[in-house]
Amino acid sequence: MSHTSSQYNIQEFSSWSPSGNKKLIIAGPCSVESEKQLFSTAESIVDDIHIFRAGVWKARTNPNTFAGVGEKSLRWLKKIEEDYNIPVIIEVLSPDHVKQAIDNGIKYIWLGARTTVNSYLTDEIAQSLSGSDLRVFVKNPLVPDISLWLGAIQRINKVGITKIAAIHRGFQSLNAAPFRNEPIWDLPIKLKCSIPELPIICDPSHIAGKRIFIEEIVRKALSLDFSGLMIETHITPEEALSDKDQQLSPNDLRNLLNSISSSLKSSNNIDLNQNNDAVKKIVLLRQLIDSLDANMLEIISQRFNAVEEIGQLKKEINTSPLQVSRWNEVMENRLEIANKLGLSEEFVEKLMEIIHHEALSKQ
Ligand code: PEP
Ligand code: MN
Repeated sequence: MSHTSSQYNIQEFSSWSPSGNKKLIIAGPCSVESEKQLFSTAESIVDDIHIFRAGVWKARTNPNTFAGVGEKSLRWLKKIEEDYNIPVIIEVLSPDHVKQAIDNGIKYIWLGARTTVNSYLTDEIAQSLSGSDLRVFVKNPLVPDISLWLGAIQRINKVGITKIAAIHRGFQSLNAAPFRNEPIWDLPIKLKCSIPELPIICDPSHIAGKRIFIEEIVRKALSLDFSGLMIETHITPEEALSDKDQQLSPNDLRNLLNSISSSLKSSNNIDLNQNNDAVKKIVLLRQLIDSLDANMLEIISQRFNAVEEIGQLKKEINTSPLQVSRWNEVMENRLEIANKLGLSEEFVEKLMEIIHHEALSKQ
């Protein structure tokens, strides 16, 4: 898939981020449960964060579980915004929610994973955003389909919204364990490559599903230079009416932010104009990598040429492309080489399988 950023007309994140060039920190409860729960959570965390989050309406799997307190909580959120001078962000699940958000002076909204999986609903919500100045965060859809995620962003952008960010919250998958959702880090990275100026923040809470995994996911996201984090935080997580296993207490949040504070200062992009030895060395090593990659692809192309020639010869002698015994020998030998070179067997096995798969389709 090739997308040029000019198609998207996405405005620079830093020009509208309340966190300047620091990583954006959004936190707050999964759901608004009561005025007291909301204000006590806000009071305990506003000094540590840039935007306060809360779910006003919740899309729940089980119809008999708590589904949010709805419209009346918008007033409380407005008051938090005024009292603490901090913007709030809520999830919208319909055009009517957008209208209520605008009527209550809310400036930040997000579209959830159950919304972006539905392109028709995303389109309806996008239409309702037309002409507004809302900043819109777009979560990845439940399914690992980058086109749907890109499509949702594009639909929002098409109605004239330029203040857009993406939220990576992981994907529903049978391979998610021990997490709740599988991160599939390749997908946010691909999204970043498609729209380099689009800020992507990570929601470790919905990936993790359990408090104990949150820090590990946060560190991974920061190592990939994500633009920020959205972390569910509740005044008493063990009493939360939704997502209680994954919410942090205000104290946990503060400890986490302290422990990663050096990575929150700014973007990790290397300033290549900096005149120091480490940077000079990185520039040289990158040139080396560029040339090694070119050689590697040249060698792979030669390998496929040989494979195609063998394919022709196999046809002439009427034999099938897949020769299991030969393939087993090849793999055994390549794993031996891997061991000698100190490469992981698992990696070389995967690599050889990809190459073999392509070779068979060529034959
Ligand atoms: C949420 O952020 O509370 C939420 C419902 O998230 P998601 O859409 O990622 O499931
Ligand atoms: Mn939640």
